[in-house]
Amino acid sequence: MERVVTLSMPFRRFRKSADKMTTVSRYNHIQPWGDDYFIAYNGFTGAVALLTPQNYQVYNRVVEKLKNGSEPDFSPEEKELFKQMEYGGFVHADHCDQQEELKFLHHYSRYGSTSLGLVIAPTMACNMACEYCFESNKKGRMSDETIDDVAEFVKKSADNIARFEVTWYGGEPLLAMDIIERMSGLFTDLGREHRFNYGADIITNGYLLSSPVVDKLAELKVRMVQVTLDGPSRLHNKKRRLKNGKPSFETIIENLKYASNKLSISIRINVDENFTIDHLDELLDELTRAGLRDKALIYFESLEPVNSVCANIAETCHTTRDFSKVEVDYYRLLVEKGFKIDKLPAPMMMYCLAQSLSGFALDHEGDLYRCLNTVGNKSKSMGNIRDNLEYTHPNFLKYFRFNPFEDEICRECNILPLCLGGCPMKRADRGLTRDELCDSWKYNLPEMLEVIALSKYRRLKPEIKEQI
Ligand code: SF4
Ligand code: SF4
Repeated sequence: MERVVTLSMPFRRFRKSADKMTTVSRYNHIQPWGDDYFIAYNGFTGAVALLTPQNYQVYNRVVEKLKNGSEPDFSPEEKELFKQMEYGGFVHADHCDQQEELKFLHHYSRYGSTSLGLVIAPTMACNMACEYCFESNKKGRMSDETIDDVAEFVKKSADNIARFEVTWYGGEPLLAMDIIERMSGLFTDLGREHRFNYGADIITNGYLLSSPVVDKLAELKVRMVQVTLDGPSRLHNKKRRLKNGKPSFETIIENLKYASNKLSISIRINVDENFTIDHLDELLDELTRAGLRDKALIYFESLEPVNSVCANIAETCHTTRDFSKVEVDYYRLLVEKGFKIDKLPAPMMMYCLAQSLSGFALDHEGDLYRCLNTVGNKSKSMGNIRDNLEYTHPNFLKYFRFNPFEDEICRECNILPLCLGGCPMKRADRGLTRDELCDSWKYNLPEMLEVIALSKYRRLKPEIKEQI
């Protein structure tokens, strides 16, 4: 039998006890791909493989025999494929229900206390004036006293955690590089003293990401930089202008050229109805000319009117269904132009920090929030870092309490491991319909699997001709 081509290894691995019966995963997605292959994807483990038509026939026989309880009757080729299916989680021991296991992992990570994650805004000020920004014209830098309060907060958990992760956020965090430096030093010292691993990433507009700043960030254990672009230079410079009215695109790209040699670069492209495939085409050419094609990972986010400050953009925002359609075209173009794809249908244990007991976002005054999009909005705070955490605070419970396993539709959804019910803030605050709550995978998984398969397969077999 021809071998199954593994495109993406499973994120989770299981070993079946020899004496246990096996069953077929409820999270399998199998679909034809051109004339020569079937794409096999398992949502629980994230494994992606290519089956030949012959593999596919064997797969169906294996599934049939498992359903009839005749596992011991496997032929040699069925046995071989079965082993590969087991490796990818396409089959699993029947005494463990994958949904129950997912539920356990979800709760384990929600209530676990072996790691701590903080999203820290050392300043709320920004050097840009984007039309859709929910942080509007905020100001303020973190005081020495608040810095000490944050270090004290970390110290309280320090003996129980193995890992402490920080995301530097804002405003524009690079306007407060001195604060980042001081806090990173405190966190590194605490890590050494209490034996936990400390690491960080940063979300920045990229304008101040000069080469000395990049060198310093790397020294301060920052490993990844996320920068946002709103399109090619002509569009970006219109939408993300500096407060002094000057353009920012050229400087950001220049900065990324150096940064990409030292740090991982993730480029988020904000998308609304005004953004077209031609804009993307132009932007990708600009990134290629700057030598960033092989060095940056790109993903797309649909702009959303998260609060009243940016309600003015609501009419140009995509619905989730519309976004899921254009998203496929965008990723297809990325692959056609030789870029790597960052977006994989990877299983998750939590959607975001709002679902976790040990993840918080905080503003420059040490006020705590459950969501990045509410940082600085005092009416959404659940208290201050210097006080005892109040887990019964309505602003804590509001986003924390949703449990996808108690929602009948989510529980039976075949992409539950990829979505876990979606963004808690959307669910709690925005009165959206189910259609809007579902992740875009719900609407575009088969098309995205084709794009992902092509991207991975091309890297395995670079000579491959057009497949999509
Ligand atoms: S609640 Fe939603 S918007 Fe807020 S951090 Fe989580 S995923 Fe992001
Ligand atoms: S929100 Fe939608 S896509 Fe997500 S798990 Fe629930 S039903 Fe599935």
